[in-house]
Amino acid sequence: MGEETKGSDFPRDAAEWRARLSPAAYAVLREHGTEPPGSSPLNFEKRKGVYRCAGCGTVLFSSAAKYESGSGWPSFYAPIAAGVLGTSEDRRFFMRRTEVHCAQCGGHLGHVFDDGPPPTGLRYCINGVALVFEPAEEG
Ligand code: FE
Repeated sequence: MGEETKGSDFPRDAAEWRARLSPAAYAVLREHGTEPPGSSPLNFEKRKGVYRCAGCGTVLFSSAAKYESGSGWPSFYAPIAAGVLGTSEDRRFFMRRTEVHCAQCGGHLGHVFDDGPPPTGLRYCINGVALVFEPAEEG
């Protein structure tokens, strides 16, 4: 990758975020929304590459950890590195879930569940609109 792997230039207030993001990305990243299942083209992305935060550009996931969960959302069994994601407890909708966000810009990404495949047993269930896929350069 030629670019920085960690985003640093990102808005600090809602108005700037609204100007930068599509309405759909804003709803997920800044308002804790959820895209309709099956709506993201990234559900079908099979190429090698990395997935960046759509808010700040930080590299969050590798295609190596992507798998087909059948949920309708892009799913990964691990982040690309320790520390790129943060979590919080989400008690909305009468459920107790673990929310996942970008540690750099704070953008909401999705949730993590403990029904994933080996080697971690985790399922990072991520809104595709919160990610930007960057294909690996052909070698
Ligand atoms: Fe971010």
